[in-house]
Amino acid sequence: MAYTEDLNFIFSMPTKIIFGAGSIKELKPVLEERGLKRVLLVTDKVLREKKEIVGKAVEIIGDKLAGIFDEVIPDSGIHIVNSGGRVARELKVDSIVSIGGGSVIDTAKGIAILNAFGGKITDYDGFNILSERVTFHIAIPTTAGTGSEVTMAAVIKDHDAKRKLIFGDIHIIPDLAILDPELTLSLPPEITAATGMDALSHAIEAMHSQQREPFSDALSLHAIKLISTYLPVAYKNGNDIVARGQLLIASCLAGIAFSNAQVGLVHALAHVLGGKYGIPHGVANAIFLPYVMEFNLPECVDVYAEVSSALGIKRGSLSSEEYAKKGIEFIKNFVKELNLPSRLREVGVKKEDLEIMAEETLGDGCIVYNPRFAMDAGIVKSVLEIAY
Ligand code: NAD
Repeated sequence: MAYTEDLNFIFSMPTKIIFGAGSIKELKPVLEERGLKRVLLVTDKVLREKKEIVGKAVEIIGDKLAGIFDEVIPDSGIHIVNSGGRVARELKVDSIVSIGGGSVIDTAKGIAILNAFGGKITDYDGFNILSERVTFHIAIPTTAGTGSEVTMAAVIKDHDAKRKLIFGDIHIIPDLAILDPELTLSLPPEITAATGMDALSHAIEAMHSQQREPFSDALSLHAIKLISTYLPVAYKNGNDIVARGQLLIASCLAGIAFSNAQVGLVHALAHVLGGKYGIPHGVANAIFLPYVMEFNLPECVDVYAEVSSALGIKRGSLSSEEYAKKGIEFIKNFVKELNLPSRLREVGVKKEDLEIMAEETLGDGCIVYNPRFAMDAGIVKSVLEIAY
């Protein structure tokens, strides 16, 4: 996994980022500077009830607000995106402001496609098929996990088929991300923990990806350091604004990293677990991360030694392999301390489903980037059995 002489890559990050407690107020000058007059606010019903979140956004957007679409549910669905697209077109909106977790931001990405180009979201299933930018989109995350505010991906569930579809396109990366830690203060501990583990998985998967490169690595390493330092703090005290802010930064850094380097087997498995069993994405990643690292270890000793260092583990006289293994143990304990499940059997998976889960995992595009060959149902099933 060391860089070789044929290293070549394109790194891109088109999103402008504004960070700071109270920075949601920056929405106003941005809309004015851009001459935007008809905003569709995309959110969910939980956040719409919160005066300090959607209430604030509505006040700031003022008379530029054309409408609110609040139908988003966790792991948004095709029908929800199509319905949001119709609303956007009927209201003739010129911009979208999404305020919520990854489910909201991903829905808004889909709506931005449909508002710009029409049709149904499944018409755009695939990778890099758009030729132009979608509708102007300002993403305001209220969880610190997915990094969707800066990524080229939108994950939308086909609830009938119990599958997660991944729409990947550079033209859907949001134009502006506002990272306001005040908006994450109300996150309950279990969502703080799960979303934090999502961000950690992005950072580590970007580092062990076959498409890893130094820019993404640099972002991932800092994200890992921030998450190992601040996730336990925010988990214990949700009102710690510094920890909340550093986690938003970490999740954004990890999002930029994986949007460029991609992710691997952890995500391929997590998408299937989320699709079939409705397990929240961060929880699914938390379960698979250490087991996939163990599987990948033969190809990733040096990479995982770097991860251990970013996790703040003392190396002493350990060999690279011993040091890498310490990092994996650290992650297992970290997951336990966050009171997240660490086994598939704890989240209701049936043993007889492992075979079909293995087969479905082969159909997820992320598996291609895994550092160790895994595109074989028997291999994937063996990892699932260990995670069980
Ligand atoms: P989420 O958006 O599904 O939200 C989970 C719950 O938290 C919801 O009930 C929501 O209302 C609530 N919530 C959000 N912010 C809150 C706040 N500040 N206070 C109180 N409650 C709050 O969770 P998520 O983990 O952010 O997003 C998960 C989705 O994102 C999954 O569908 C996943 O596949 C997708 N995802 C996308 C990308 C990407 O690059 N596009 C990356 C990773 C994950």
